[in-house]
Amino acid sequence: LFYLVPPLGALVTAMIRFNVVAAAMSRVSELLRLRTEPESPVRPAPVLSDRAAAPASLTFQDVVFRYPGDGPVVHHGISFDIPAAGMTAFVGPSGAGKSTVFSLIERFYEPQSGTVRMDGRDIHELDLGELRAAIGYVEQDAPVLAGTIRDNLCIGMPYATEEELRRVVDQARLGELVDRLPHGLDTEVGHRGTKLSGGERQRVAVARALLRRPRLLLLDEVTSQLDARNENALREVITGITAQTTVVVVAHRLSTVSTADRIVVMDGGRIRAVGTHEELLSEDALYRELAATQMLLPVSELEASAARIGD
Ligand code: ADP
Ligand code: MG
Repeated sequence: LFYLVPPLGALVTAMIRFNVVAAAMSRVSELLRLRTEPESPVRPAPVLSDRAAAPASLTFQDVVFRYPGDGPVVHHGISFDIPAAGMTAFVGPSGAGKSTVFSLIERFYEPQSGTVRMDGRDIHELDLGELRAAIGYVEQDAPVLAGTIRDNLCIGMPYATEEELRRVVDQARLGELVDRLPHGLDTEVGHRGTKLSGGERQRVAVARALLRRPRLLLLDEVTSQLDARNENALREVITGITAQTTVVVVAHRLSTVSTADRIVVMDGGRIRAVGTHEELLSEDALYRELAATQMLLPVSELEASAARIGD
C-alpha cells in the first residue's frame, strides 16, 4: 500500500508519530485482504470477555466455502479441532486452502455452510470487533513501516506501557537487537524497515501482534523466507508463547512443522490427515512426499545441499 504511493508513506509515518491514526491502521494487511464487512449480531455473546486472556480453542465443522464470483469450491466440507494453547501447523500444496482457513476464522468471508466455533461458540454469535481483537495475524512479509521500532510495535496500541513493550520485545526475542541499537526502541528502522533483517522484521511483526495479547495467533508462512538462524529464532518465539496463546501456523519448513503439537495436512480443499510429525510420516503419503521434497526440508539441509552443489 505505502510503497505504491510513496508520499503517503511519509505522511503516514508523521501521523503515527502523533498516534492520530495508529488505531485505525492497526492491521494494514488485513485491510488489504478485506472484501466484505460482515455484521455483528445485535446482542453478541459475551464469551470473549469471560475468559479475556485465555488461549482460544477453535473448531471447523463441515465448512464449505467458495470465494464470491464463479471460482471453484475452496473448502469441501472441512472439519477439524484446534484445542486451546499449543501449536497447530497446516501443511499442504499451494492452493490447498490453508490461508483461506485463516480468512474464515477472522470472518473476512462467510462459509456457504458449516460452522466455525471459538471456544465452542459459533463465531457469528460473537461481536466482530471482539473476535478480531482476540486474534493476532502475521503473514510473510508483514508490513514494517518507516519510523522507530516503538512506532511499529505501537500501531493499533498507542498507549502501550514500557513494561508491555519490554514483554513483547522479550517474547519476540528482540531484546538483543534493541539493546544493540543506538537509540533502543526509538531507533529508526528506515523506509519499510530496510535497516532490519528479514528475520528481525518478522519478529517485529510478531511482537506487534503479541502486544494485543491475542488469544489466537495466526502465522501464515512467516518462516518461509528466513535463513536457518532467523527461522530458529522465530521457532523459539513460537514455542515460548504457546502457553498464553493458541498458535496456528501455515508453514513449509519441516523444522517449523515438526515441533507442532499437531499437524493438519490439507490438499485440494480437504483435510487429508491430522497427527504429529512422526504419526504422519508413517501414515500419510502426501506428508511423506512433502517431507521428502525441498518444500519441507529443514533449512540447514537446504543450505548443506546448496553447498554441496556449489562444490
Ligand atoms: P493456500 O494458502 O493453501 O496456498 P489459499 O487458501 O490461498 O491456498 O487458496 C485456495 C484457493 O482459493 C486457490 O485456488 C486460490 O486461487 C483461491 N483464492 C485464494 N484467495 C482468493 C480470493 N481472494 N478470491 C478468489 N479466489 C481466491
Ligand atoms: Mg497461503
